[in-house]
Amino acid sequence: MRITAIHIYAIRLPLRVPFVVSYHSYNDMPSIIVKIETDEGLVGYGEGVADEHVTGETWEGTFAILKHTLAPRLIGTNPLHIEALHERMDGAIYGAPTAKAAIDIACFDLMGKKLGQPIYQLIGGRFHDAFPITHVLSIGNPNEMAEEAMSVITEGYRSLKMKVGTHINEDIARIQAIRERVGDDISIRVDVNQGWKNSATTVKALHALEILGIDWLEQPVIADDIDAMAYIRTKTNIPLMIDEGLKNMRDMREIIQKRAADKVNIKLMKCGGIYPAVKLVHQAELAGIECQIGSMVESSIASAAGFHVAFAKKIITSVELTGPLKFTKDVGNLRYELPYIRLTDKPGLGIDVNEQTLLELTAFSDVIR
Ligand code: MG
Repeated sequence: MRITAIHIYAIRLPLRVPFVVSYHSYNDMPSIIVKIETDEGLVGYGEGVADEHVTGETWEGTFAILKHTLAPRLIGTNPLHIEALHERMDGAIYGAPTAKAAIDIACFDLMGKKLGQPIYQLIGGRFHDAFPITHVLSIGNPNEMAEEAMSVITEGYRSLKMKVGTHINEDIARIQAIRERVGDDISIRVDVNQGWKNSATTVKALHALEILGIDWLEQPVIADDIDAMAYIRTKTNIPLMIDEGLKNMRDMREIIQKRAADKVNIKLMKCGGIYPAVKLVHQAELAGIECQIGSMVESSIASAAGFHVAFAKKIITSVELTGPLKFTKDVGNLRYELPYIRLTDKPGLGIDVNEQTLLELTAFSDVIR
């Protein structure tokens, strides 16, 4: 099988309500969709959602890298040769994991379609039958966040992920308000998105959090400060998760060497797609670090890709891939059975892409042949 054309679509996915984290507020999500055509008539879809605060990539830049740097070098190559394909992409440009993820996902979609198997069967086979879906609460005032938490618990959710990271006193008030409101049986995970900056502030906050029974605390300090995470870990019983501080295999090596995390949040956009994510998962397993598969608020395409990785691996114990639930329009039809998700046995990503919606959401596009 040979790649004959790569279509690149820069789209904007409309959000139901703005998504607010410590470093940004989004009204819609800019995304890049890739469609790879082959000489066998099979078509694969991929997606790249750039987060400038996490990987230093942008929507426009990712489009340009795909158009000028990656796509021209991939025409004529075999999309099944995934190790060689990554070697070729890494040789063309350092970093740029989001652009590479878009290509990687489309190639796995093709691989699955060619073999008539869902992607999870190609990377370990089905291990999990279902994953509970966590409801993500944007940063807001404590009462409104508690209100929203109660309303999703009424719908059947059993776990909440809170976004915090403004000021520790405000954040502690938010977490207290939600714990008081939902009771002790609901899991609460807290993501600071680097908002507490350093170890001193974090340790102070953790003393107040220890009685609130949170599952884990995610990325309290600046991404690159792995030493701070290692220090904080000696000062608390609350499990710590690294997210922004883990992008590639080098980061994972440092985290393992410094024993800086109990858990890591792996995202296809940070590491370059399904294949690099699988490598990170195996590294983590070696060190007994549990993994979560997270996302950048992605459409059905990249969210499905993340779920395929999650379903195939024992050491992956949680997922956070709720992008499709946040959009009023989506290019694909990934199906949730809230508050769970189960994957089908359809080949490749296992979703259908609606070309009409894709074009409707497209701001600009190009094709490389
Ligand atoms: Mg996070």
